[in-house]
Amino acid sequence: MPDVEWKGSAHPYRENQIPKLTDAETLGQFVKVTCTWCSPKITRYYRPMDIYKIVGQQHVLKLQRRFRCEKCGRKDYMEVAFKTVMGEEIKGLVIRELVEIRMVKRPIWRDKKL
Ligand SMILES: [Zn+2]
Repeated sequence: MPDVEWKGSAHPYRENQIPKLTDAETLGQFVKVTCTWCSPKITRYYRPMDIYKIVGQQHVLKLQRRFRCEKCGRKDYMEVAFKTVMGEEIKGLVIRELVEIRMVKRPIWRDKKL
């Protein structure tokens, strides 16, 4: 099924080869998100299933630019990778965990001539 956001190889076979959030979870990987616009670069780590709860099953290429940098507010410089964190790197690693998903009520207004 064509996807409007996915601009890379759309061949279904190829697309099936791209690691998905559940693959990263199985491998014990984290979702590493880096803003390459900010200096110094800001990197955050997320649990794959936290991201899954928000956007559903996605492969790593579809997650590019889905995040927004909390510092500069840009999306277009956000690089996303699945990362295996091992040994020494695990000690003191700060991950961003999902606390809750809040549904926000937002009124939409329009002017109407009577
Ligand atoms: Zn940034």
